[in-house]
Amino acid sequence: MKLEKVRNIGISAHIDSGKTTLSERILFYTGRIHKIEEVRGDGDGATMDHMELEQERGITITSAATSVEYKDHAINLIDTPGHVDFTVEVERSLRVLDGAVLVLCAVGGVQSQSITVDRQMKRYNVPRLAFINKMDRTGSNPRRVVEQLREKLGADAFLMQIPIGIEDNFRGVVDLIEMVSYTFDGDQGEKVVTGEIPADLKDEAEEQRVHMLDSLSNYSDEVMELLLSEEEVPKDMIYRVTRDAVLNGATPVYMGTAFKNKGVQPLLDAVTQYLPSPLDREVKGRDPSDEEKRIELKPDPDAPFVGMAFKIVDDPFGQLTFMRIYQGTIEKGGTYVNQRTGRKERFSRIVRMHSDKREEIDKATAGDIIAVMGIDSASGDTYSVERDFCTLESMFVPEPVIKIA
Ligand code: GDP
Repeated sequence: MKLEKVRNIGISAHIDSGKTTLSERILFYTGRIHKIEEVRGDGDGATMDHMELEQERGITITSAATSVEYKDHAINLIDTPGHVDFTVEVERSLRVLDGAVLVLCAVGGVQSQSITVDRQMKRYNVPRLAFINKMDRTGSNPRRVVEQLREKLGADAFLMQIPIGIEDNFRGVVDLIEMVSYTFDGDQGEKVVTGEIPADLKDEAEEQRVHMLDSLSNYSDEVMELLLSEEEVPKDMIYRVTRDAVLNGATPVYMGTAFKNKGVQPLLDAVTQYLPSPLDREVKGRDPSDEEKRIELKPDPDAPFVGMAFKIVDDPFGQLTFMRIYQGTIEKGGTYVNQRTGRKERFSRIVRMHSDKREEIDKATAGDIIAVMGIDSASGDTYSVERDFCTLESMFVPEPVIKIA
């Protein structure tokens, strides 16, 4: 897979907004959970209800990293702990991300933990999209959520979609770039049906499209000029500028109901369209022999290997060390040095984690997230080609969190 097609993303949310449900839906639409019946395995073909599915898949869905494929992209979903405090564990998980999806409840909007995760994402400059979930709930109000994103988080948030129907009647979304409607058909909403914008929503779609373009014009003189001369902004320019805007801190907003299988595929499309690849991220390591010196790491498979262990999981088959490779290539059977202990470790088994299986691989390259089995490491350890080459831990010392009693 080409590096520009890789997305290392996290899903962050206030508890109960639907992070687990959304992750599970993503696994479904990316084909990792092929048939729900298959998961249950009793062969009677009955559709498993959501809660059962969640329990069965719960362990894997919340695993440290899961790789899926969507429309010729590789998406690594990384679990981002929703801790209230800024812990080193949160720091590590944020550092391995290139982008994130902030999930919000359509009724609850921006809640206490949304504020916490937002602060954490900002500190690490993690580009992100927002997804307003639970659009089916009574009292859901996407416009209010966008206002809260602006007011409470100071985010430059703007709608990329408007809802078709609301609450019980929520059926789909109008895409404000393509100016078409998407509704979702099939038991699991697996069919995305593209149609015309419902007549009664045309005016609102036009109005919101103007807001979206206005927001985007802050990131692009080209768009600004076209708007000032009242000319049409070409679609390809909107896509390109949205991508730049996301890299510069803007928050495009999507919506749906993960629970009722609506709105997830357009969100995945946005993840591939706008969130950055490892090529877009600048990463610096420290030179262990010189406190002041920074080493710029390039996502180049031919450069000397540098990777960081961000999560250690005990498994019946031995310890799994989840690692992000920042530079270079690792090969099965290769020997690499733990920068903290100075010990050489043989990477005899490298695996890519999927929700339903682990795939043994022979090599992995810069930008990738994989797990190494059976090596002795601690979370935060940097691995590299030789001793004292580079270290990534404690690169950023988090500012103390000031608590108001
Ligand atoms: P998490 O704590 O953020 O991981 O949230 P969960 O995915 O566990 O969801 C919390 C609760 O909200 C569960 O009971 C879900 O079934 C429910 N839920 C998730 N998504 C939706 C949605 O789109 N609409 C509604 N009405 N409920 C949802």
